[in-house]
Amino acid sequence: MIQKPKGTYDGYGEFITKYEYIKRIFNDLCNEYNINYIDTPIFESSELYHRGVGETTDIVSKETYDFKDRGDRDMTLRPEGTAGIVRSVIENKLYINLPLKLWYEGPMFRYERPQSGRYRQFRQAGVEVFGDPTPLMDANLISLMVKFYQRIGLKGIKVRINSIGNKESRESYRDALLKHFKPHLKDLCEDCNNRFEKNPLRILDCKVDSNKECMKNVPKIVDYLDESSKKHFEDVLKYLDLMEIEYVIDNNLVRGLDYYTDTVFEVEANIEGFGSQNVIGAGGRYNNLVEYMGGPSVPAVGFAFGIERIINALEAEDIKVIDDKGIDAYILPVSENEMDYSLTLASFLRDNAFKVDMDYTNKTMKAKFKEADRYNAKFIVIIGEEEIKKDILTIKDNLTKEEVKVERDNLLDYLDINI
Ligand code: AMP
Repeated sequence: MIQKPKGTYDGYGEFITKYEYIKRIFNDLCNEYNINYIDTPIFESSELYHRGVGETTDIVSKETYDFKDRGDRDMTLRPEGTAGIVRSVIENKLYINLPLKLWYEGPMFRYERPQSGRYRQFRQAGVEVFGDPTPLMDANLISLMVKFYQRIGLKGIKVRINSIGNKESRESYRDALLKHFKPHLKDLCEDCNNRFEKNPLRILDCKVDSNKECMKNVPKIVDYLDESSKKHFEDVLKYLDLMEIEYVIDNNLVRGLDYYTDTVFEVEANIEGFGSQNVIGAGGRYNNLVEYMGGPSVPAVGFAFGIERIINALEAEDIKVIDDKGIDAYILPVSENEMDYSLTLASFLRDNAFKVDMDYTNKTMKAKFKEADRYNAKFIVIIGEEEIKKDILTIKDNLTKEEVKVERDNLLDYLDINI
């Protein structure tokens, strides 16, 4: 039997209920914040990600799904949402009307080692805001994120925040890091030795070396921020305080790419026994990316969260999501003879916005009632010979099991009142 690829999953049943719930809440929230939806392709030219995500990141150097299409072009399945949106903003000149606030949701692909909370195809949702350089917008997006987690009912979340400064601040920090790590290179892993050459900031991000001695007294970026970066960071924190959003400053939190600037943040699920893949959302400011990708100089800030990890967090906190998938009415023709009447009744109810299903196959009565239960029907509308003759329907409340007779002309009113 052919099986699904490693690191993927089939979404159905309860997963879909939770996924749709999360998506609906995020969609509503983005509407409230006046953020519009954008949809970009699931594959793009490989060059986009090499540039837009960065050659030195694990995502690009080790994890992309690359393929040649039939026209011999190098293509990549999208590993994240930002690069494609930046391309779209430039290509469609969306930067003409700034600020521009966009949200997205969809599948991403990374060739990672699968484990709980880490998949090769997973879903992210996120927001990107272009053309607003203010610390207020950074704080605003963090507040949106926190509101989202609160609204879906998660309690155990922890916001970590840091500033990696502007380009100038980072130059002097980079020098300090090189000086600090040089005598310890033999203690660091192979990846960190490569990072030392290309991008020493990312050594701070290393999961393998994080507990080593030389990680404990690393210079802190806050000590290297110039006046404008310092002010930006202080203001972000001030606005978070104003909005009563709790956070911790984490000096080791970095996004080791040149176009990231100032604010970076992550949200962790702070739930007992949640497991190592506990980062449920992350974001930051990237004032240099649009220009770096060939567009005008437009500041930007955004975040993304992983939907599967949020579903895992809902499960870990035992948060129930109400399944409103049940139908309003199940129409039950007693025999073949009542099929036509039942069909038109179902159509009539659907036209009046009721969720309706019916038995099309003329099963046994027992099987029909069982099917109504499986669909979680609130009412069963029984159509027999008598019912059609008199145009009076038998309606069974599937919870209380009570039966009433309702004239067909009064059916809509009856359902309206009782559902
Ligand atoms: P990143 O784009 O790496 O900053 O990731 C943003 C968010 O996406 C993370 O905080 C996770 O919630 C989620 N995420 C990243 N990689 C995966 C993965 N392989 N499987 C599931 N979720 C992921």
